[in-house]
Parts: sequence; structure tokens; C-alpha cells
Amino acid sequence: MREFDRGGSRGDSEPRKMHKAVCSECGAECEVPFEPKKDRPVFCKECFRKRRGERD
Ligand SMILES: [Zn+2]
Repeated sequence: MREFDRGGSRGDSEPRKMHKAVCSECGAECEVPFEPKKDRPVFCKECFRKRRGERD
């Protein structure tokens, strides 16, 4: 279910719905803008960027 409503002139700084998760890479507690799935790894911001920037 998506509730992303664009185009509103108000509520500019309305926070996104974040979900608490644990990074599969470093084990750090983090928040992700999507619902974490149990069968899929979740990465914190740092690890996510790391994985995107570096090829393994
Ligand atoms: Zn991490």
C-alpha cells in the first residue's frame, strides 16, 4: 500500500513513514522508507551506499 502523495502545497516537511530495521551488513539499527521483508536483506544508509558504489 502506497501513500505517497505528491503535489501537495502543504506539509512540505512531513516525515515519511519509516520502518525500523537491522542492517544485514553491519548489524546497525536503521530506518528504511519501506517495509523490511524477512527474506530480503536490509542495509543501513552507509552500507547501502557502500554496496552501490563498490562492486563486489
Ligand atoms: Zn550497515
